[in-house]
Amino acid sequence: MNFDSDQELEDFVSKFLINQGAVVEKNAQGFDLLLPEKTADLLSTPEYIRLKRESDQDREEDTYSFNYGSPLLDKMVDIACATVPVTACCLEFNYLKSQGFDKLITSLFSFSGSVGRVETHAETLTDYLAITCRYLAQSDEQKMGLLSLIFNLETGAYIPEMSELLVGADKRFTARRDNNSLTGKKVGTVIGWIERQARASLKEEIAPFIASMTRRFRRDAANLEEYYRNMQREMEQGLQRSNLSEQLRRDRQEKIALLPDELAGKKDDLYKKYSIKIKIEPAAAMMIRTPAVKLLYNASIGKKEKRLTFIYNPVTKSVDPLCCEGCGISTFQIAFCSSLHLLCPTCVKKCPVC
Ligand SMILES: [Zn+2]
Ligand SMILES: [Zn+2]
Repeated sequence: MNFDSDQELEDFVSKFLINQGAVVEKNAQGFDLLLPEKTADLLSTPEYIRLKRESDQDREEDTYSFNYGSPLLDKMVDIACATVPVTACCLEFNYLKSQGFDKLITSLFSFSGSVGRVETHAETLTDYLAITCRYLAQSDEQKMGLLSLIFNLETGAYIPEMSELLVGADKRFTARRDNNSLTGKKVGTVIGWIERQARASLKEEIAPFIASMTRRFRRDAANLEEYYRNMQREMEQGLQRSNLSEQLRRDRQEKIALLPDELAGKKDDLYKKYSIKIKIEPAAAMMIRTPAVKLLYNASIGKKEKRLTFIYNPVTKSVDPLCCEGCGISTFQIAFCSSLHLLCPTCVKKCPVC
């Protein structure tokens, strides 16, 4: 074991414990700890313990090893991996767009059955949430990877192009442990966004994997059918031999009659073998607070009017899409039902809200 991995191990253990709210005192062999009750429960240890590098054999009372392979380290790693770390950053812009919003909206959005204009605009702060999810697609083979999603926390709008553009933005990282905007009910809402969007984004991401499994299913199914066709032909030819007893002939005929069911069962197994199960879980998240411009827009729909709020996003230098009130997806194609629900092209056929 080299110095670096020793140091890394100690750093991990100490950061983990401090994050848990433990009182950590370093000494020559390891750490003296006072653990919060919850952490002690999770680790199945007393609240006051001593950690040492060497193994657990001939251990003194309340002294635990945190070396590689130790049960205590395994538990810490499990706990650390079970929580989604949230970092936070603030973006800074020297210049924010202050005019030309109508033109921008007209170039980005299509409105069906309505016209409108920006009535007023105001600089504001808004929060985006960037989430990295781990995914695992399991079939006869498996594929895993990471998926990045970014949403506006206020509106739920999905802004895929923001991930790349963020790299170049002027940002300051902050340790905001009190993520007020991501608690309680909001967490459930965000999980809904992730589930909906991850499914759609993943479809593109793993399209080659799906195609490959489909191809192999078709190939194996075709081979199977051919195998059964040949077998049936041979068995039928065998029936024509004159030296068969009546009993043997009946047995063979029964077997031939069973072949289609047998084939259907085998094809069913193949289908199960190549069907794809997908698991998605959040791995890390970053809250991004940024200056932005809120645009209050008045839409005239026939004789009625509706107020809409657009957000000018200085990272993408564009206006964020709006969210369909029917299904929640982000859209640049805006339509309304007769009760003025804002709808995407799919939902406008039959308003899910009305
Ligand atoms: Zn919709
Ligand atoms: Zn409606």
